[in-house]
Amino acid sequence: MEEFYSLQGEGFHTGRAAYFIRLAGCDVGCVWCDVKESWDKTAHPVVAVDEIVNRAKKSGTDFVIITGGEPCLHDLNYLTQELKKTGLLVALETSGSSKITGEFDWICVSPKKFKAPLPEAFERAHELKIVIFNKHDFDWAEEHSMKVKQECKLFLQPEWDKREEVLPMMIDYVKSHVKWRVSLQTHRVLGVR
Ligand code: SF4
Repeated sequence: MEEFYSLQGEGFHTGRAAYFIRLAGCDVGCVWCDVKESWDKTAHPVVAVDEIVNRAKKSGTDFVIITGGEPCLHDLNYLTQELKKTGLLVALETSGSSKITGEFDWICVSPKKFKAPLPEAFERAHELKIVIFNKHDFDWAEEHSMKVKQECKLFLQPEWDKREEVLPMMIDYVKSHVKWRVSLQTHRVLGVR
């Protein structure tokens, strides 16, 4: 769908320069999705993987984030192998609802209620990021935190349009459930994509 060089705004790698590769297609259907234009993969051009890899390499980054849409609807083996051959670190942002293919240095799983994640996604996750839309999502976050490995980093992130409503609850929650960290969509504050 698009490629751009920016900063990672969310989660563990917040503030880090990253080349984003956004793949088109998503079958999850989150009501609050802010990239609904990504859902229909036929609305976007087919791009040669080698061209993407060359642009990522030339960007000057050391870190690539493959996102979507739901990137795991695609076979990511060749793309990730070629990126890693150039020495780039490769991260994935996924809902975990489709089989993960490819080699990754970092996997962020952000499960969604609209299509259940696969068990293997939790096994491979380095980072679990739960979007908080209302107070019921804390229970949902706890349920999923039981499924990841002990060393997996745990983040709660407010749904952007609900942030004023849910942030006070989140701050209280993290103070009494200290395994969690708050993640904010800082790219929106920084004015980058
Ligand atoms: Fe949007 Fe991501 Fe949900 Fe797909 S998984 S609908 S791209 S927020």
